[in-house]
Amino acid sequence: PKKHTVVIVGGGAAGISVAASLHRRDHSLDLAVIEPASVHHYQPGWTLVGGGVFREEITARPMSTVMPDFVQWYQQAVQALDPDQHRVQLSDGRWLAYDILVLAPGLELNWGAIDGLEATLGQNGVTSNYQQGLARYTWDLVQQLRQGRALFSQPPMPIKCAGAPQKAMYLSCDHWRRQGVLGNIDVQFHNAGAVLFGVAAYVPALEAYVRRYGIDLNFQSNLVAVNGPARTATFRHTDAEGNSQDREVTFDLLHAVPPQRAPAFIRTSTLANGDGWLDLEDDTLRHRRYANVFGLGDVSGTGNAKTAAAVRKQAPVVAENLIATLRNQPLRAAYLGYGSCPLTVERGRIVLAEFGYGGTLQPTFPKWINDGTQATRAAWWLKAKQLPTLYWHGMLKGHEWLARPARRG
Ligand code: FAD
Repeated sequence: PKKHTVVIVGGGAAGISVAASLHRRDHSLDLAVIEPASVHHYQPGWTLVGGGVFREEITARPMSTVMPDFVQWYQQAVQALDPDQHRVQLSDGRWLAYDILVLAPGLELNWGAIDGLEATLGQNGVTSNYQQGLARYTWDLVQQLRQGRALFSQPPMPIKCAGAPQKAMYLSCDHWRRQGVLGNIDVQFHNAGAVLFGVAAYVPALEAYVRRYGIDLNFQSNLVAVNGPARTATFRHTDAEGNSQDREVTFDLLHAVPPQRAPAFIRTSTLANGDGWLDLEDDTLRHRRYANVFGLGDVSGTGNAKTAAAVRKQAPVVAENLIATLRNQPLRAAYLGYGSCPLTVERGRIVLAEFGYGGTLQPTFPKWINDGTQATRAAWWLKAKQLPTLYWHGMLKGHEWLARPARRG
């Protein structure tokens, strides 16, 4: 089969960033990217589309304009991996060989896990900022609702941008508050997990907004079924003893977030860990068993928050360690699990959560933007005015702003 020095699977946030970081370090590298999509989406912008702040158009660009001209682009999906033979199979059946493989195909939204959801998504008041194209419908629904009940669900972890289910809720509540109708709306958050946010330091600031908006918090309450025409959602509540009980709740608006898993070609491969995610070393981002396989982005089984912000820190680490592998040098760059979640608690203010493995706080922005665990206007300015540009023209171009890798050992 045809062969490239480096084959990158996926041309999303992670795939393009790592290609750019590699090229920046070594212009002579022979790079290929396998990516089937014609459009590249800036998914972190979808929260602001759902909140009526961004137009959807600014979150999408033709893949042809994002794909660097120094890579060979295969507009195909990978359908199978063969790490022992150092090759991958494309959707047209062809094989492509590599010296080093980088896996960055993101994750899969498992809509089918919630009975009836897929059939009603985008109608009957059922929406999700997680589904490409639907954030606009979220904003339509939020504007239309003046009384009734609004439900926001969060599935079991891990999911990408774990704060996004509640970001949608806070921005909606803030709109209803400004319209003077919040008091007429019963807002409920149903979280399959047991805590509001996985890093305890940020919880008090979020709880203050929960109280301010009068949100009814339900933990260990997992969305299992939706009947769109009847406008009912079924939540499975599990108590401390492990007993579960189903409860049906009627709604006028349902913002649903599906469970998430690794793409099937990863999940079913020998490269997966016990939970189906890519089995990488936490610090080097190299595969635990295949020395010529790296990975980054949402597919990785490392315990960081699955965010584009994590990719910002991961791409230079993979680039540096991959080149060291090609040169038979020791791997020096370390990823410390950085991830970030800009929690849009109201229009104009954000709690900027930045943390690494084990929930250690890892602020990378100056104090006037990230002032510990409180909401700031500067963090909103960063998210709404600066980050899209930094994404398209910084991260995707290999400018490693505030992302110098740590050293191992
Ligand atoms: P993606 O960007 O999803 O890209 C994966 C790519 O792989 C896609 O282009 C896909 O077509 C391709 N692919 C899939 N299967 C194959 C295959 N078989 N072969 C080849 N290619 C394949 N992050 C933040 O940092 N901050 C935020 O505020 C934030 N908010 C978010 C809000 C929402 C509503 C959502 C949905 C996400 C949010 N994120 C946020 C998360 C962020 O978007 C992801 O973490 C990031 O996009 C991960 O990059 P990735 O390249 O791993 O995956």
